[in-house]
Amino acid sequence: MKTKNKTSLKDLNSFRVDCFSSNFNIINSEKEIIDFLVSNKEPDSIILGGGTNTLFKNDIDKPILKIQIKGIEVINENNNSILISVGAGEVWDDLVNWCLTNNYGGLENLSLIPGNVGSAPIQNIGAYGVELKDVFESCRAISIETGSLRIFKNIQCNFSYRSSIFKEELKNKYIITNVIFKLSKNNHVIDYSYEPLKNDLKNNNILNPTINDISKSVINIRSSKLPDPKLIGNCGSFFKNPVVDNIKYKKLKKKEDNIPYYKMSKNKVKIPAAWLIESCGFKGLRDGNTGTYDKHALIIVNHGKASGLEIFNFSQKIKNKVLKKFNILLEEEVNIIDN
Ligand SMILES: Cc1cc2nc3c(=O)[nH]c(=O)nc-3n(C[C@H](O)[C@H](O)[C@H](O)COP(=O)(O)OP(=O)(O)OC[C@H]3O[C@@H](n4cnc5c(N)ncnc54)[C@H](O)[C@@H]3O)c2cc1C
Repeated sequence: MKTKNKTSLKDLNSFRVDCFSSNFNIINSEKEIIDFLVSNKEPDSIILGGGTNTLFKNDIDKPILKIQIKGIEVINENNNSILISVGAGEVWDDLVNWCLTNNYGGLENLSLIPGNVGSAPIQNIGAYGVELKDVFESCRAISIETGSLRIFKNIQCNFSYRSSIFKEELKNKYIITNVIFKLSKNNHVIDYSYEPLKNDLKNNNILNPTINDISKSVINIRSSKLPDPKLIGNCGSFFKNPVVDNIKYKKLKKKEDNIPYYKMSKNKVKIPAAWLIESCGFKGLRDGNTGTYDKHALIIVNHGKASGLEIFNFSQKIKNKVLKKFNILLEEEVNIIDN
């Protein structure tokens, strides 16, 4: 374990907020976590992966544990499927590419999502019709309170849209050290039901896509509409898409006839947060050093010198306006870290 006192967090968060940690610890193994927990009785430690879903509101005095546990290991396989165990500190997209190189199917729709493997279960990352829960077998995690190791099987993680037990009742209670994935070795389930993916493949005359075709197409679409955090600071979607019941949706539809929705279940629909935000006039709006991305209203960007507090305050302006206009309280997808 490496501990540093004054560490700049600018290159460790994709909002590129320029702030400092006064107690920064780089963790390379489960043993280092346990050693840290034995010598630090601080229950409020902050766990950091790639920092692509984290907004630091200010300088951070609480200990930060940056998880860098590495390794990809095959633990079991048969003719059709394979189980791989992956260290929490592996970069997610490196894992996706490793799977594609080995012709293991399951992660291709999740290509190019920034961040690390250990953070993926926290919000059950998802894109283009697939979620982490579809390939997640189990994970190992250490309790911050007791230092004991626990295995969480898929069913125990309570995965749901952009959430899991680690974002709800066990929020900040466990450090995930590795994740086991179940992937296909042949007869891959190719999912291109998501409309933009279907259209991109069609435009490229691909009728029977392979997992590599899916990945390439996802990368095409993502690169054309999402801002690259290396060029402009952002954390992807700032808010979750709100889910409302049919009664509320019908009321909204009376006021705004063109309000889009996706059916979630018999009684629930999901409304695109981007549409709500755009309807409140925020798309591409600049507010000092921050604002929303001109191609996507759900993405808040740092135009260069925004502080965490400035970005946070701007997000609250959006939230208040949407609440006032639509009576919908947006919920943050980004994890906001306060000291
Ligand atoms: C341009 C862009 C596009 C994006 N697109 C998508 C998308 O399509 N779909 C999607 O789901 N997300 C998307 N995201 C969000 C982000 O990539 C994911 O949430 C990703 O999983 C975050 O990984 P991270 O390692 O950077 O997490 P961090 O920001 O480091 O951490 C996120 C949360 O997880 C906790 N955490 C991190 N590591 C651990 C661990 N080992 N154990 C316990 N807790 C931990 C942290 O405390 C924090 O609460 C996007 C982000 C960007 C910048």
